[in-house]
Amino acid sequence: MGKPALLDDGDGADTTASDLLAQAPCGFVSFREDGTIVYANATLGHLLGVDVHELVGQSFERILTVPARIFYQTHFFPLIKLHGRAEEIYFTLRAGSGAPVHVLANAARTEVSGAVRIDCVMLRIHERQKYEQELLHAKKAAEGANAAKMRFLSMVSHDLRTPLGAISGYADLMLLGVRGEVTDAQAQDLRRIKEVSYFLLGLLDDILTFARAEAGALTVSRENVTVDSVVARVEAIVAPQFETAGIAYAREPDRAGLSVCADPDRLQQILLNLLGNASKFTPSGGKVSVRWSVDGDRVRIAVTDTGRGIPAELLTQIFEPFVQVNREIDARKQKGMGLGLAISRELARAMQGDITVESVVGQGSTFTVSLPAA
Ligand code: ADP
Repeated sequence: MGKPALLDDGDGADTTASDLLAQAPCGFVSFREDGTIVYANATLGHLLGVDVHELVGQSFERILTVPARIFYQTHFFPLIKLHGRAEEIYFTLRAGSGAPVHVLANAARTEVSGAVRIDCVMLRIHERQKYEQELLHAKKAAEGANAAKMRFLSMVSHDLRTPLGAISGYADLMLLGVRGEVTDAQAQDLRRIKEVSYFLLGLLDDILTFARAEAGALTVSRENVTVDSVVARVEAIVAPQFETAGIAYAREPDRAGLSVCADPDRLQQILLNLLGNASKFTPSGGKVSVRWSVDGDRVRIAVTDTGRGIPAELLTQIFEPFVQVNREIDARKQKGMGLGLAISRELARAMQGDITVESVVGQGSTFTVSLPAA
């Protein structure tokens, strides 16, 4: 406190503290405990569109709207009396024209030579309200765009799904020889057509699930399921993949019959993704295992591989959508889009669980799904 700090900038201008206060970019008013205004700065006069000299001697309540007056008497004034200050109070002043002027006020009770004053600074919040409105509009527009994106994705995935089903269906018929004998080369091409259409169907599913998760529209059921049963279903799907890739597979349950509280289809989707990745990123001769055990009120299902591993600085990023360790190679050779882990983690979290990863480059990785024990 004490004297105001003022720098003499040597330009001969005779600036005083009261000049600065008069022109400060916020309204300032000082009044006695009985409400009589003893000082009002020019900025406040400007805010209210009145001559400040007219304000001096008037009651502070005169520059308030009726509701603000009630608020002043029941809250503002008692607060200052009790605590000596009031901060970040929304107030509505009444301009000379009668128009409301919204301000944010800080007030403090001061006592100089026995005279009590209430000093109050006021910042106009006209701009802030405008920004809030703009933010609200932007939020509504974003929500609208999100809903439109969801409709578009559902429509596209539906419209692509039907012809894709027909493509693989006709390929099946031709492979069965329904349209006549096919040569070995033709059969190989037909199998490729089927393989690619399955791959595209999988991508469509991923895009749709991801869009749902983004829109907060992901639904999961909660039931008691044994981990063995889900792992068995997943194994039946991935076993040929491991065999073709020359990877040894083992399941190592801590205890048979362990159950989790989860959506069995969603858990299957997560494990399919983790085992699919393990087979994609583990070279021939490597090993993949699935282990599960209880840890307090959780069951942890760990998928471990002896594959290429993931650099430490990318361990958190790979859970972000469209992130791949080696984008060029992974997207083309491993047929991925970088959505699998993002979806898996969303699904795990929707079931009150999570997925974590540990990895050493060149040695392998362990992805662990934790879920509530049943
Ligand atoms: P996708 O497999 O479709 O590329 P994911 O989200 O499932 O997408 O995985 C993201 C990336 O994380 C992969 O492209 C790969 O670079 C890396 N990754 C995932 N699992 C493994 C793993 N078991 N070993 C090594 N890298 C992995």
